[in-house]
Amino acid sequence: MSLISKAPAEAGLVLVTGGAGYIGSHVVLALRDQGRAVLVLDDLSSGRRSAVPDGVPLVEGDAGDRALLADIFARHGVGTVMHFAGSIVVPESVERPLAYYRNNTVKSHALIEACVEAGIGRFIFSSTAAVYGMPDRLPIDERTPTKPINPYGSSKLMTEWMLRDSAAAHDLRYVALRYFNVAGADPQGRSGQVSKVATHLIKIAAQTVTGQRAELQIFGDDYDTPDGTCVRDYIHVSDLADAHVAALRHLEAGGASEVLNCGYGRGHSVREVLAMVERVTGRPLPMRIGPRRPGDPPALVAGVERIGRTLDWTPRHADLETIVTSALTWEERLVRQE
Ligand code: UDP
Repeated sequence: MSLISKAPAEAGLVLVTGGAGYIGSHVVLALRDQGRAVLVLDDLSSGRRSAVPDGVPLVEGDAGDRALLADIFARHGVGTVMHFAGSIVVPESVERPLAYYRNNTVKSHALIEACVEAGIGRFIFSSTAAVYGMPDRLPIDERTPTKPINPYGSSKLMTEWMLRDSAAAHDLRYVALRYFNVAGADPQGRSGQVSKVATHLIKIAAQTVTGQRAELQIFGDDYDTPDGTCVRDYIHVSDLADAHVAALRHLEAGGASEVLNCGYGRGHSVREVLAMVERVTGRPLPMRIGPRRPGDPPALVAGVERIGRTLDWTPRHADLETIVTSALTWEERLVRQE
């Protein structure tokens, strides 16, 4: 992945919706590091203009706006769409399901239809392990039945279905990447997670280390896992970004449509993550045991055989210490900037 490989002449530029957000901005950096031409479409509802690197054009607008999409496709030689724009807070999706179906599913429908009409034949979609719900066997490979347990997961799965069926009917190939637990920040400090209303463990730990929270709660320590806390497959955001670049190469080389898990295939418990935070900072982290959080499966670990076989992707940051260190370094920088 370190070598810049030349894109095919007809590759065109990559339109990245949600490119000013956490994962999208890391993908933009990875594409730029590979010398690829990128255009960002983001309504800046949660993304930040400053997350878009200098020199990358930003169109401020809605990823489901058909007139805007038609205009973008007419003006720019877009060869591939990478779609990250969407809403991602699981509890909020339970409270406002229709907002999630509109923002994630209806807008994706508009975007896919605009691609089909404009003859844009490559699509990379930001999906989620939430499509699996509460699987009873580990590791979770892509043949595991999809049974989402919240509107967020359903809204993403419906987009996968639209892509599957559109690819069968039209000149469209796609890769849907099902992310496990994405964490960390760009090792060069160029981007990271900004959102104040964090729900994810490592971000919350970073906010606690930097004094933005008094303490952290462990949501349950009575699970049927080795230390009683939940186990997750944490993947560094820059490795995830590289997987998108590898998916792009796969499609550009004529590869078939794929649905691929994105994780490392190995789990860490909440306690292990927090112990790593303490090791990296050299200080105890204020924490207490709280009740279980509704809807949390005890353990989620990706089966990664298929992505390993399909994409030319070698993770470069696959250890918990690197993930935690990069997240803490980013958080300290954010606090200093305030
Ligand atoms: N978690 C926790 N305290 C927090 C946030 C998360 O104990 O303040 C736990 C959560 O219950 C889950 C794990 O950390 O077992 C990962 O949660 P996160 O929200 O980061 O990702 P999820 O797996 O829910 O997508």
